[in-house]
Amino acid sequence: MRNASMEEQWLSSHFSGGNQTYLDEMYEAYLADPNSVPEQWRSIFDKLPTVNEEVTTDTPHKPVRDHYLLMGKTPKLATNTVAPNLITEHERKQVRVHQLATAYRFRGHQRADIDPLGLRKKVSVPDLEPKYHGLTLADMESVFQCSNLYIGKKEAPLKEILGAMESTYCCSIGAEFTHIVNTAERRWIEQRMESVRSAPEYSIDARKHILERLCAGEGMEKYLGSKYPGTKRFGLEGGEALIPLMDELIQRSGSYGAKEVVIGMAHRGRLNMLVNILGKNPADLFDEFEGKSFLSEGSGDVKYHQGFSSNVMTSGGEIHLALAFNPSHLEISAPVVEGSVRARQDRRNDPKGDLVIPVNIHGDAAFSGQGVVMETFQMSQTRAYGTGGTIHIIINNQVGFTTSRREDARSTEYPTDIAKMVQAPIFHVNGDDPEAVVFVTQLAVDYRQQFKRDVVIDLVCYRRRGHNEADEPAMTQPMMYQQIRQHKTTFELYANKLKQQGVVSAEEVTALVNGYRDALANGEHVANALVKEPNSALFVDWKPYLNQPVVDEFDTSYDLKELQELAFKINTPHEGFPLQRQVNKIMEDRGKMAKGALPINWGFAETLAYATILQQGMPVRITGQDVGRGTFVHRHAVWHNQNDGSTFVPLAHIAEDQPSFDIYDSFLSEEAVLAFEYGYATTMPNALVVWEAQFGDFANGAQVVIDQFITSGEHKWGRLCGLTMLLPHGYEGQGPEHSSARLERYLQLCAEQNIQVCAPTTPAQVFHMLRRQIVRNLRKPLVVMSPKSLLRHKDAVSTLEELAEGHFHTVLDESNADIDKKKVDRIVLCSGKVYYDLADKRQKEEATNVAIIRIEQLYPFPEEQMLDVLSQYKKVKDIVWCQEEPMNQGAWYSSQHHMRRVIQRVSEKLYLRYAGRDASASPAAGYMSLHLEQLEQFLNDAILNIQ
Ligand code: AMP
Repeated sequence: MRNASMEEQWLSSHFSGGNQTYLDEMYEAYLADPNSVPEQWRSIFDKLPTVNEEVTTDTPHKPVRDHYLLMGKTPKLATNTVAPNLITEHERKQVRVHQLATAYRFRGHQRADIDPLGLRKKVSVPDLEPKYHGLTLADMESVFQCSNLYIGKKEAPLKEILGAMESTYCCSIGAEFTHIVNTAERRWIEQRMESVRSAPEYSIDARKHILERLCAGEGMEKYLGSKYPGTKRFGLEGGEALIPLMDELIQRSGSYGAKEVVIGMAHRGRLNMLVNILGKNPADLFDEFEGKSFLSEGSGDVKYHQGFSSNVMTSGGEIHLALAFNPSHLEISAPVVEGSVRARQDRRNDPKGDLVIPVNIHGDAAFSGQGVVMETFQMSQTRAYGTGGTIHIIINNQVGFTTSRREDARSTEYPTDIAKMVQAPIFHVNGDDPEAVVFVTQLAVDYRQQFKRDVVIDLVCYRRRGHNEADEPAMTQPMMYQQIRQHKTTFELYANKLKQQGVVSAEEVTALVNGYRDALANGEHVANALVKEPNSALFVDWKPYLNQPVVDEFDTSYDLKELQELAFKINTPHEGFPLQRQVNKIMEDRGKMAKGALPINWGFAETLAYATILQQGMPVRITGQDVGRGTFVHRHAVWHNQNDGSTFVPLAHIAEDQPSFDIYDSFLSEEAVLAFEYGYATTMPNALVVWEAQFGDFANGAQVVIDQFITSGEHKWGRLCGLTMLLPHGYEGQGPEHSSARLERYLQLCAEQNIQVCAPTTPAQVFHMLRRQIVRNLRKPLVVMSPKSLLRHKDAVSTLEELAEGHFHTVLDESNADIDKKKVDRIVLCSGKVYYDLADKRQKEEATNVAIIRIEQLYPFPEEQMLDVLSQYKKVKDIVWCQEEPMNQGAWYSSQHHMRRVIQRVSEKLYLRYAGRDASASPAAGYMSLHLEQLEQFLNDAILNIQ
């Protein structure tokens, strides 16, 4: 014990026991605002002990304020060290007991026995030692109050209190939750854990069931290992507790009335999950091991990337399970799952997320390494992307491929620390204690249902083999694998435990093992409660969208009168909802456009396209950076009341029973957001789903989504997707970063009609293109080079009739009536905004011998339509492709063979030449003067053929 300080002496001289209330009030005032109490008091309160300090009992303590706030309690000061003369020794110790018990809640996880291999280096945690709090062996029998704990007693001997806290927080479960600021949530976790000491007693049936599921987890890997030795399967061995975990998660979710669970996971353990949890027929899996193909079309994917769907029965009814397909790029499937879940919740009108539950299963190395994990957490409570909380499971095998040194793998204590950014509770659990695993699973499901927030289960296990089955792990992890080789399997350990408890006999265990193996050998289903004839009402019927022909010029006309009515509905400002002056003017202009008094511009046509789609009964969802207004101030789909800041979305109010129109400005992410929208679009075929990039080149932050999902998902996995990507593109002298949406990258990825790439140049074209994307039953991703300056270009206008009639034109023939086709001897082919520069130049030069033809869809390349157009020009001697992008970029390299093929059909004498910027490392010049010089040069070349 330290001696009473000067302050303590000062205190005791000023106060007697009757001043306790005053002292408490003073402390409360200090907690609210330290500056509100006199300096002398402040310095005393500042020195009250804290719980999280690693110091000896002799060291002066730091403020305890945060701690007490978290506890929701104000300390009774007179019982603390500040006024030693006023309180009894027992009362003083009572406070210390309280602090020690609290320390378990904060730091018990650091001492918990969560590593089955026992390799975890445990740090010393001084504040879990009674000595640190001035408590000794002699105090162990003394009775203290413990009504602030949930251990079922108001008071108990110290050793009993400590025993309860030790088994709650330092055995097989290490819980991190004191970073949560919501007191109710923390209390809930404390109550749930402490009341059963984190080890509820499970019935004999429940224990036998856990054993059976472990047997399935182990049996599956053993069977595959012996039947296909050395074949890559990324086995679950070491993490078999995942199977009882998932089984419990699904059953408990079902008991709450959930209708769907959507699961994302990387390759490790996937085959095991497919067969043991989702009920994939083992015989089908074996066929895949033998290299047989299942897709009737497409190129397929390896077996450990495959998704699956099934239904299982729970106490709350049938539940649909969907395991998402995933590429090898770890973690990217997490936001895809979130998008798919949100689509299902929207479909079920389940805004709270009661009915559809997202589960993302991660590896420890990827969870701490990949930035998209942070982006996905950041989405979790947002308006646009929230799904009512995700259950995250880390298969923490303590090694990523060959990297296991903590100094190499991460800077955080646990791989899960990133989850604290959203205040998710984190339950680290020893994978060799399957009952503890089931218990934290129950906690996680209950927590998610109760608080609708993310929660993390860190299943600490090991990897019995190498990264894959052909890999030798001892090359790089000799000590870990010495340990693993001697380590009994989870099933063996638990079977032994149950045998000791008399729950099962040795014969029963053998029968279990043999029974499972025989079921596999007979190709029987081995999942728990699989529904053989699933209720198809639980999922969407994709049949109308399958095997649709690619019809590019699809009728998207719309009755003119109805179009006008819709336009008035969405563009007429309301009484009492004052708009900002410029926005008001835009709406006034749109009113005139609807009457035919002004030519139609881009913003009008685009928003009207959405209105017609809604009117035809299909929902629309638009997200992306600043989409409500539009980066370039053209959309104004969200109105902002200038008096009170409230918002109004006209497109969400066109009819009482209309489908939803959701528009959300996204947080500043591309990768997770685009992945989310891919997940949404692949789950909601009847909705127009649009993602817009701030500037087109920012989509490169989501390149993995474009490569691994959008352009290849249909061919790898047979999953259709009608997502639209609006990518602002155009060379306007803004420098390298804001000019190019990197059209060449998309074109290079085009094959087998996988996506559509368009560059519409008129408002009518964007109107029909957006309508075509949803009115037609074809579901293919649509990549759009969308405009910036064209949004306001005086010539980039259309008429009402052009919107009402016709369809999207993949090729736009010469539109200037002054150009006589019979006299044209040069054709300039182009795509996108450069058309207007070319038309301008032609006019200035009075080059009436030149026709300009726009290719509005670059992929699938409209060869027949182009042939029809070109065939009208009989006198052509020179044909040129003009683009504003440098030669190594834009459409030139990827599309010239299409154009050449058509030109050859028109005349063998014609040769396509190039007019445009030279090849360049950077997308665009950084100086306006250079930009203009280059422009002038290639326009001369294209229109006048002067270089
Ligand atoms: P899910 O609800 O994701 O399990 O899907 C149920 C079934 O719908 C799947 O088994 C597929 O047959 C079909 N399906 C789901 N999504 C798609 C998609 N994007 N494209 C084609 N078919 C799909």
